[in-house]
Amino acid sequence: MSSPGPELYEVVNPATEEVIETVAMASEAETDAAIARAKAAFESWRRVSPADRARLLRAFAAAVDADREHLAQLEIANAGHTVGNARWEAGNARDVLEYYSAAPERLFGRQIPVAGGIDLTFQEPLGVVGVIVPWNFPLPIAAWGLAPALAAGNTVVLKPAELTPLTALRLAELALAAGIPEGVLQVLPGYGPVVGRRFVTHPDVRKVVFTGSTRVGKEIAAGCAEQVKPVTLELGGKSANIVFADADLARAAATAPYAVFDNAGQDCCARSRILVQESVLEEFLALLEPAVLGVKVGDPRDEQTEMGPLISAAHRARVASYLDDDVSIRLQGKAPEGKGFWFPPTVLCPVDQDSRVFTEEVFGPVVAVVPFRDEQDALRIANATEYGLSGSIWTRDLGRGLRMARGVEAGNLSVNSHSSVRYTTPFGGFKQSGLGRELGPDALNAFTETKNVFISTEE
Ligand code: NAD
Repeated sequence: MSSPGPELYEVVNPATEEVIETVAMASEAETDAAIARAKAAFESWRRVSPADRARLLRAFAAAVDADREHLAQLEIANAGHTVGNARWEAGNARDVLEYYSAAPERLFGRQIPVAGGIDLTFQEPLGVVGVIVPWNFPLPIAAWGLAPALAAGNTVVLKPAELTPLTALRLAELALAAGIPEGVLQVLPGYGPVVGRRFVTHPDVRKVVFTGSTRVGKEIAAGCAEQVKPVTLELGGKSANIVFADADLARAAATAPYAVFDNAGQDCCARSRILVQESVLEEFLALLEPAVLGVKVGDPRDEQTEMGPLISAAHRARVASYLDDDVSIRLQGKAPEGKGFWFPPTVLCPVDQDSRVFTEEVFGPVVAVVPFRDEQDALRIANATEYGLSGSIWTRDLGRGLRMARGVEAGNLSVNSHSSVRYTTPFGGFKQSGLGRELGPDALNAFTETKNVFISTEE
C-alpha cells in the first residue's frame, strides 16, 4: 500500500494571481525529525570556535549579498513587493547577517568581585530555536530571527508563512552553500497549527521567536508558558502619526502616505492613525491630497511603482470590510483593475474614535485622520489602544518632540521621520505589540542564558 505523499501548497503571485511554485508542507513527524537534526547539529555548532562561527556567518552574508537581485525578484513575485522595497529587504537581510557575524567573538562574560574565589559569567546558547515568520516581510524577518540565534551558537528551525516560503527556502540554500553545516539552519514550510505549533510544544525547542498577529501570539505565549520556554513576540500595531501645527506641514503630509501605504499597508509599523492639531487639519488634508492621489499603484516589477497588491484575495476582502462600516472616505487613490489583489490608498476623515477602523489593525492601505487639541489630547488618543509598536511626531519644537516620544506607549518612535527599523538599534513593541526586542545589541540577550560559575581559591 502506498503512503500518501506530502501535502502540496500552491504559491501564488499576488499581482497576477498565477501559481508560481508548489511547495511541500511539512507534517508533524517531519517537524520532529527536523528538530532532532537541529538538536544533533547544536552539539557541534556550539563547539565551533568563535572565529570560525564568525567566518561562516560572514560567508553566509556574502552569499546573500551575491544573490540579492535573485532574492529581490523572488520576493516581488511571491509577496508583491515593489522592486525598490524588495531590493532594500534583500540588502537588509545581508546587513543583519553581517552585523551579527561580529557577535560570536564579542559574547563577553563578566568577572564579578566575590569573597573566597573568582566569579565568572558566560553567555551560553539555548539550543534549538524555532522561528515563525509572517508573510508581510518574509526575508528581513527571517534574517532578524536566525542571524542573532546562529551567532550566539544556537541552531534554528524556521517556518515561513504558508503564503510566502520562497525567499526563506533560498536563504537555507545559501547558508549551506556558504559552509554553514547541515542541520544548523533548516527551513520548514508548513501550516502554523502543525509546524509552528510543534515548535511551541516540543521540549527540545528551547526558544520560540514569533512574528505575526496578536491573536496567534497570545496562543504561542500561553503554550510556551506551560514549559517555561522563552519567547520573543513581534505582534500587531496601530501606530499614530502625530502632526503638530508648528511642524513642517508640507514634509509631514508628503511623507504620511509612505508611512502607511508602504507595502500596501501590510506593515506592523504602519502609521494607520494620523492625528493632526485641529488648527491645521484642513491645511494638512489639502497637502495630503496630492500625495495620496499621486501614489502609483501597480505592477511591482515597474521601477516607478510605489505600492503593489495585497497578499491574497482573502486579505483584500478583510481590508475591504472596514470600508463597509459606516465610514467617511475623504480621499481615495486609484488601483489597477483585473487580475491581482489590488486596493486603492484610502484616507478616512472624520472618524469615530471607537470605530473598528480606528481601533483594529487593518493591515491594508487605509488610514484614519482625527484632530487633537494639545499635547495631552494627542497622547490620550495615541495611547488609547492595546497596541504599542511605533509612531511618529512632527514638530519644530524638539523639546515637545522628545516629550511626546517619551509619552507615547510604544517601542519605536521617530521625530520628524517615519523610520522605525535600523538593524543596529532595538526593535519591538509595548503592550500587546510584543515581548522582547529584535535587532541591535539587545537581540543577542534573547538567544543566550547567563551562566554563573564560582571557582573557590581557598587553600
Ligand atoms: P499570523 O499570526 O496569521 O501568522 C504568522 C505566522 O504564524 C505564520 O507563519 C503562520 O503560519 C504561523 N501560525 C499561525 N497559527 C499558528 C499557530 N497556532 N501556532 C504557531 N504558528 C502559527 O500573522 P500574518 O497574517 O502572517 O502576519 C500579519 C501580522 O503580523 C500582523 O498582525 C502584523 O502586524 C504582524 N507583524 C508584526 C511585526 C512586528 O515586528 N511587530 C512584523 C511583521 C508583522
